[in-house]
Parts: sequence; structure tokens; C-alpha cells
Amino acid sequence: MIYMDNAATTRPYGEVMETFMNVNEAYYFNTASIHQSGRKAAQLLEASRKQIAELLGVPDYHCIFTSGATESNNLAIQSVLRRKQPYGGTVLVSELEHPSVLNVLEAMKEDDFRVNYIKTFADGTVDTDHLKEMLNDDVIFITVMAVNNITGSIQPIAEITEILKQYPKVHFHTDATQAIGKINMDYAGVDSLSLSSHKFHGMKGTGALIAKEPRTLSPIIHGGGHENNLRSGTVNLPGAVAMARALRMATEQQDVSIERVSDYNHKVRSALGNLRSVHIQPSGVPHILNVSFRGAKGEVVVNALGNRGIMVSTTSACASKLKKLNETLLAMGNARAIIEGSIRISFSSLTQEEEVDEMITALLAVHKEIGEVLK
Ligand code: PMP
Repeated sequence: MIYMDNAATTRPYGEVMETFMNVNEAYYFNTASIHQSGRKAAQLLEASRKQIAELLGVPDYHCIFTSGATESNNLAIQSVLRRKQPYGGTVLVSELEHPSVLNVLEAMKEDDFRVNYIKTFADGTVDTDHLKEMLNDDVIFITVMAVNNITGSIQPIAEITEILKQYPKVHFHTDATQAIGKINMDYAGVDSLSLSSHKFHGMKGTGALIAKEPRTLSPIIHGGGHENNLRSGTVNLPGAVAMARALRMATEQQDVSIERVSDYNHKVRSALGNLRSVHIQPSGVPHILNVSFRGAKGEVVVNALGNRGIMVSTTSACASKLKKLNETLLAMGNARAIIEGSIRISFSSLTQEEEVDEMITALLAVHKEIGEVLK
């Protein structure tokens, strides 16, 4: 099997699985217990918390452990909006966001929040002039992801933090799930960011919300008051320690990995770029490549590759079931045939060159096979 769906999830590093097992064995205690063993577990948790914030370049920020980026996005959005409701009611959001942002905001509309969408350029980046035009006194929250999960487009996070310096009331959140471990980004100006361990070779079910001022947050999961009363429930210590290790490894390997993965990206672009009816979206992070076979259905291409042992994804399986076009590709102004015929190929630091070569051979064969339907 050749795995090319790393934007969906990654294979955990062997060392990370080892850490996870070791902590389960040696530190299975509850971090909230007051006995010596519980305190030792709590110390390990605090060390991981500190390490994660440092590795992200925001050592003064607070790390709240969650079950993943979906929960982190929910925590940031729901709690900050509730807190800031007396000061305004408008949210600005890019059209490119993951459903764990867009659908939460949709639900928040029921509580009288207004949600306005920031336009997108054809290259998949947000239009910061449009953002500036929409800023007013009622805006309390802005959320723009760091890297898009469908095309890999890199968003101007530093520029947005610069713009927002004149709007201290606004909380700026970024969903950095697809950026972390892939590219360096300056998070120093954001108020909060979400991450998910399984996207950078950690374990599933572990994530974090990194917040500049945890006082601006309030819990959405209530209970025994864990995580400084921001996220109740016994903390997943093995997952948290494994996440710190995965982040350290991904950060250490990032530069080498970017170079290798960029070569893979160029290889695919030059092999497919000139084929009839093939459209490749503009590049962002080299790890994600969105390729369309105009006239074909993305699911058909995914299945044809799957039959050859190569795992890629359509831009969004659930959206195709709902007969809904992918919102990111739509926001970028792509034609229907390009959206319907698109597949997402995503590499990781574990992807091997021979695997890329084999995938290219398979893609060329599939292109030939479906030739008659292509427009
Ligand atoms: N945001 C983005 C950009 C993602 O790609 C994903 C994973 N598909 C999530 C949030 C949700 O992450 P998790 O699986 O940790 O809930």
C-alpha cells in the first residue's frame, strides 16, 4: 500500500508510539491525584505543555490539552464569543475554513452572532483588503486558518495580526492544524491557535488550544475542573507527552522534509501538468497537491488509484455525498468540472521517492483509462 493521504492523518513515528506506550506503563496515574505518583504525572504534563508552546515559538502562551483540533476550534470560538458578546456580535471568517470552524459559527448564528465571510483569491489565499473593509466596531472575533487542508494554500497570518493591532478588541484565532510540522509560521501575534497531534505523526485523539490569555476563555466541557478549569476530564497524559515528542521530531525534520517533499511536488506537477484536461491548483505547502481530471469524478479516480494500492482522497468525501461542491475550491472560483474531478494527494516526511514514482505511473495509467470522459 502506498499512502498519499497525509492531510487526512499521518502514520505515528515509531519513537512517538514508544513514548506513548512507556508513559502508559510508567505514568498511568491521574494527573489530578494529589499523591506522589499523581504529582509526578502532573509534572510530566507540565513539561510537555511548556515544550509544545516553546516549539511553536510562543513560550508565554498557555497550552490547553484537548481531544483534537475540532474540539480546540469549538473551545476557542464558543468560549470567546460568549465572553465578548457584551462588546459586539460580528465574526469575520475566511470561506476556506474546515467544517469544525464553519459549522460552529453556523450554530452560533442562533445566538444572534453575525458571521461575515472574507473573500478568497484564485490562488486560495484570503483577500486582506476585503478583511480590512469589513472591520468595524462590532467585530469581536476573526478566524483564518494557517494552511488550507484542501489545496495547501498558506494564509497571510502575520499580515492579519499586523492589521489587527489597531483593533485590540478583536480576538484572532487561527486553525494551524495543517501548518504545524510542515512550515514555519510566526504565531506570536495570534490570540489562539489549534493543533492536532495525528497530523504531525502523533497519536489520534490528542490536540491543543494554545492561547495568549486563557482568561479570555471559558469551558465548553464542564466537570472536575481539569486544565485550569478550561477543559474537564482526566487528561490524556500519554497522548500529550507523545504529542510533544512528535512536535519536536516534526520540527527538527521540517527543513529536510520540505526540501524532499518539494521535489515530489515538482515531479508530480511536471508529469501531469501538461496532460489533457488536467488542472493542478496553485501551490502552497508542498505537502498538499490538488489535481483535477476535468470531466471525470474525483471518486472514480480515487477508486482507480485505490485498486492499484495507492491511497489518495477526494477533496471531501462527505461533501460529495451531500451533492455539495467543495467550498474551498468554489471560493477560489473553480469551475464545477474542476471541483467534481479533483483529488487531493498529500505527502509527509515519511513518503519515499519510489512511492511518488509509482503513484505517477498509476496516475498516467488512470488518465489514459478514463480518457474518453475527459473534457
Ligand atoms: N482543521 C483542519 C484544517 C483539519 O484539516 C482538520 C482535520 N481534518 C481538523 C481541523 C480537525 O482535526 P481533528 O481530527 O483533530 O479533530
